[in-house]
Amino acid sequence: MLGNLRDKLVRTRQAFRKLEDLFKSGKSREEALDELAEAMILADIGVGTTEKIIEAIRTGTRKDDPPEVLKKALKDEIASLLTRFEAPFAAGPGPSVVLMVGVNGGGKTTSMAKLARRALGEGRKVMMAAADTFRAAAQEQLSIWGRRLNVPVIKGPYGADPAAVVFDALKAFQAQKADLLLVDTAGRVHTNANLMSELEKIRRVAAREIPGAPQEILLVLDATIGQNAIVQAREFLKFSGITGIFLTKLDGTAKGGTVIGIADELGLPIKFIGVGESAEDLLEFDAASFAEALLS
Ligand code: GDP
Repeated sequence: MLGNLRDKLVRTRQAFRKLEDLFKSGKSREEALDELAEAMILADIGVGTTEKIIEAIRTGTRKDDPPEVLKKALKDEIASLLTRFEAPFAAGPGPSVVLMVGVNGGGKTTSMAKLARRALGEGRKVMMAAADTFRAAAQEQLSIWGRRLNVPVIKGPYGADPAAVVFDALKAFQAQKADLLLVDTAGRVHTNANLMSELEKIRRVAAREIPGAPQEILLVLDATIGQNAIVQAREFLKFSGITGIFLTKLDGTAKGGTVIGIADELGLPIKFIGVGESAEDLLEFDAASFAEALLS
């Protein structure tokens, strides 16, 4: 897992190498910390989170501590910050529903396919629902993934009530005694109020049909947009049930530091990371491995 993560995070690791170099230069701790703060902000960690980490390193080290001690303090601090919000993926072992939310283009459908493949690998019976009924392309894309993975996709007519599609999907899910229903939702942010009430309605329908559902509501965020992902996330947090983040496209970006800012500023666990365009390119997020992969 660690080797794979290191390879996938290659561009972010290059950005982080600059942080490491700061410790090698024989500077005083204060000089090193100042430069470190600057470099962390450039690495998309975010100002607030950066300040918090720098302060923790300052408190946890002594003025004359050698560079290795500072570097270890940085790694530990990143790991502990990410660990604070860690939570296991709660979909299963019983019948479970997972809603995927997030703006269009962020990677919702691809990420759903990844979760479907993962569950199939665990021997679970998986279904998908296309509840973005206004975007024909989204339905089509989900159907393509469905055919590839051999997973049934429940759709509705163009413009149908998304909650009605989810209701039909839940009925099929129960009839077929499936284990996991993954639901794609609309990502139109310009009609935000409508979208939030639409998501709320989907949630109510799911809760009525399956005990404890939806077990997970994952907010899909694109890591390549860096700190803007946090701004985008705040819009979706108006819809209160989000249980975690699925952070996509970490393979192609140098902005992997966003992971740290997102977890810290939103106070939500990062549950999965997407590291490529195929269904296999999924990694379960693990705070310690992530910190290790970034700074080793
Ligand atoms: P949606 O509109 O939110 O459903 O987004 P899509 O699933 O259609 O993804 C948008 C684009 O991002 C597609 O070209 C995907 O192949 C790509 N994509 C999604 N996840 C990842 C990822 O983890 N890594 C990379 N490199 N590309 C991704």
